[in-house]
Amino acid sequence: MGLLEGKVAIITGGTKGIGLSISKRFALEGATVVACARNFVELANGIEYRKLDVTSSEECKEVVEEVLKKYGHIDILVADAGITRDCMTYKMTDQLFDEVIDVNLKGFFNIGRCVGPLMEKQGFGSIISISSIVGQFGNIGQANYAASKAGIIGLSKSWAKEFSRKGQQVRVNVIAPGYILTDMIKTVPQELLNRFAEQTMLKRLGEPDEIAGVALFLASDLSSYITGTVISANGGMRL
Ligand code: NDP
Repeated sequence: MGLLEGKVAIITGGTKGIGLSISKRFALEGATVVACARNFVELANGIEYRKLDVTSSEECKEVVEEVLKKYGHIDILVADAGITRDCMTYKMTDQLFDEVIDVNLKGFFNIGRCVGPLMEKQGFGSIISISSIVGQFGNIGQANYAASKAGIIGLSKSWAKEFSRKGQQVRVNVIAPGYILTDMIKTVPQELLNRFAEQTMLKRLGEPDEIAGVALFLASDLSSYITGTVISANGGMRL
């Protein structure tokens, strides 16, 4: 029997990169997976695609209502949808700053504020947000991204307190990945990626499946006494 047998999971950004690995892993472990993103992608058996732009609070509400109506419960939310718009601060327009905050931080708020209270009412659930090593330590050329990813940590800790305040078994945790080999880092020059790999204890970048393993742990009962934490999955990049 899989670790997520009978569970229903919504995964924003579940169609590509880290989110897709999480979708596949959860489906393999027996979960019903609804993978949400703006663009349609053909997905493996057991993973449903649902169109969603997380910047729209209306669309987030609709998706959550639909999934609840169809399955009767929502056990897991993974808020993975994220973008970068990197540049030095002196070049950063309002638009570049706002776009990143709107998707990465406000997008998490939009979906989490629908799912969290519902889990409160159910009395159980696991919410997992995807921050970043950049949200923990900052980075040159990523002021917008760092702010959004640091914000995710504060929001998650607040919700860990709020959604379980009457003793409900609603857990909210954060994964802060280091550099993971997906499309998102394709624009980073190879020389820089080599340097990042060298800065880790394991002397390599991460694979999406290595984040999916952490998400599985946080989604399942294996982590039933863990809430309000940030798990760094970065190969020991900053020790
Ligand atoms: P990808 O670019 O490979 O995938 C991003 C996913 O998010 C896609 O499914 C994309 O689909 C979706 N998405 C983007 N914008 C929206 C939106 N407005 N509404 C709904 N879905 C959206 O990125 P990664 O897999 O690399 O990153 C996943 C998460 O992990 C992000 O939050 C990222 O910040 C974080 N992360 C990544 C790291 C890395 O090194 N790769 C390191 C640390 C954190 P579509 O475009 O169709 O909407």
